[in-house]
Amino acid sequence: MASVEIRGVKKSFGAVDVIHGIDVTIADEEFVVLVGPSGCGKSTLLRMVAGLEQITGGQISIGGRIVNNLPPKDRDIAMVFQNYALYPHMTVRDNMAFSLKLRKADNATIESRVKHSAEILGLMGRAIVRDPQVFLFDEPLSNLDAKLRVQMRVEIKALHQRLRTTSVYVTHDQVEAMTMADRIVVMHDGRVEQIGTPLDLYDNPANLFVAGFIGSPAMNFIKGKLHRAGGAVWVDAKDGVRLPAEQGVAGSEGQDVVYGVRPEHMSVVGAGNGGVPATVTVVEPTGADTYVYAQIAGEQVCAVFDERYDFAPDQVIHLLPKLAVTHLFDAATGNKLN
Ligand code: ADP
Ligand code: MG
Repeated sequence: MASVEIRGVKKSFGAVDVIHGIDVTIADEEFVVLVGPSGCGKSTLLRMVAGLEQITGGQISIGGRIVNNLPPKDRDIAMVFQNYALYPHMTVRDNMAFSLKLRKADNATIESRVKHSAEILGLMGRAIVRDPQVFLFDEPLSNLDAKLRVQMRVEIKALHQRLRTTSVYVTHDQVEAMTMADRIVVMHDGRVEQIGTPLDLYDNPANLFVAGFIGSPAMNFIKGKLHRAGGAVWVDAKDGVRLPAEQGVAGSEGQDVVYGVRPEHMSVVGAGNGGVPATVTVVEPTGADTYVYAQIAGEQVCAVFDERYDFAPDQVIHLLPKLAVTHLFDAATGNKLN
């Protein structure tokens, strides 16, 4: 097993720069997830680690050895791609179908679930028996239906807990990143936005991009101007809406800011208790939680509650943000104000 060091790595395809200088150090035995929207350069970065793509600048080391000019077969890595092809052995297949047959699943379901699982496990098995220094995964689960994706995510994590092989895993799915990673690298337009543990990124997003990308449903953003007087700090948004902010926050009087609050960080309070008025659009009961979509200061927000609420459309409710976990961002730069 080995560490992977990516130092100032750049990539251009012809005149087009797609990776603008990336620094990431992946420790021995670590499971690091590269996450970001489609086209941000995740696969390109992974393929440069694998040696499938020449790097335009910088340096990549695996286990302390510079591999810039080493062909893939000499890098001691194993790669699992999204577009796999493998023919499962019938005996293995019958075994895998057995539990589904007991549950009286229909043939089409058995067929597709067994096929997908066999393909992934088969590919991973092929990678595992080689006992490489590093596993590289490029969206291995994105072809699967939601239920199977969750099962395979657990399998891969359990496998890593057993084998401890250094792993770099690419996905565009932030839930996959949050649930699987030791550390997450958030990428956007060929750059790293932030690196941290899943809960670091959730609790302390460095900027609007990370704040909006990590967490589901996404963080709510409301634009306004920062004000402070007599020890109180607040943001004035459209329509005379006043949003309470944390006292210690940086930022100057009158500054344009974006107020961020996660859906799970608001509670319903009675009028006159400091809540922000919100006009209900839609209520979604999921059983476990209630999702409430509403308008605050002309912006659509989402709030998630453990409690069951049955608000009517156009009803005005009052939402109280949990001050300590609200966020303020500089509207001009998108960076978090500390
Ligand atoms: P991701 O995996 O994050 O979706 P990619 O690494 O596949 O993103 O692509 C990053 C950018 O590089 C995209 O704009 C893509 O169009 C471009 N790109 C990828 N491969 C090539 C290539 N072989 N030639 C030209 N452009 C490419
Ligand atoms: Mg890709």
